[in-house]
Amino acid sequence: MDLREELRSEIDGKTINYCFSCGMCTGGCPSARLNEKYNPRRILHRAVIEGKIEDDIWLCTNCYTCQERCPTKTKVADIISFMRRIYVKEKGIPEFIKPLVTNLQACGFTAPIGELENKRRERMGLPPVKTNDEIKRIIEKTGGGVK
Ligand code: SF4
Ligand code: SF4
Repeated sequence: MDLREELRSEIDGKTINYCFSCGMCTGGCPSARLNEKYNPRRILHRAVIEGKIEDDIWLCTNCYTCQERCPTKTKVADIISFMRRIYVKEKGIPEFIKPLVTNLQACGFTAPIGELENKRRERMGLPPVKTNDEIKRIIEKTGGGVK
């Protein structure tokens, strides 16, 4: 399916039609501040005009600032998440994301939880972190992990 059609088939994906390229999303985006090549306005524009998804979508931190600021209520962050789903379906999990997914499969978090982390927590009077089995189960059931 064409990317534009696929995005518009999602309930909030349809809001991509509201974007008028004002750039307020990019102005408030922390990732764009750190990396001048990252630009959520351009990501949406490219999807609409060229029907393309590029690797830069993985620089989004899902902080939702763009979505809060958008004057037309375009669901920018959700649309970028839809794009990630489409990307994985078409090209697979990118190499640089695989270590995070492997951690998710192992413990339910993107960072490993091990003895060292829990010892550090204990010294600070914090309870140990347990594995997040629900996330692990979701990955197993959906077959979405690193094979
Ligand atoms: S803030 Fe909203 S309308 Fe403006 S460029 Fe971003 S998504 Fe488009
Ligand atoms: S959700 Fe992503 S695109 Fe939106 S402001 Fe945060 S980092 Fe930027």
